[in-house]
Amino acid sequence: MSVKVLVNSVQCKKCNDIIESKHTHDLQYCKCKSIYIDGGTDYQRYGGNIELIDFSYSVYEEILQICGVEFTDKAQYENVKRAVESLKIEGIQPTYDRVKGIKDLLDGKITHEELAVRYKKGT
Ligand SMILES: [Zn+2]
Repeated sequence: MSVKVLVNSVQCKKCNDIIESKHTHDLQYCKCKSIYIDGGTDYQRYGGNIELIDFSYSVYEEILQICGVEFTDKAQYENVKRAVESLKIEGIQPTYDRVKGIKDLLDGKITHEELAVRYKKGT
């Protein structure tokens, strides 16, 4: 399961300093220089004596995705996941295009007919 970094912040267990990296190249050391973090909200990079890092100040968000298609709505994600499961039962391998098609259908961007045409093209 992939995650997105919302708050990139850690505490040093040695000096109790709380440090936060706010953007990609914002490298921050704690007061005693035992640990550092970097990456802002793009990625979380850390180092030094990693046994001293307390991650409880960091906030992460689970990325909902199926075959590379990202979902922002948890309910829709569950619906598509169920649709993909039934495809698998029918012996159809879910691909990025298929999952995207189901999502577009649920979003009302395309009709059932258009989805069927897409499926034919894709196979
Ligand atoms: Zn420290």
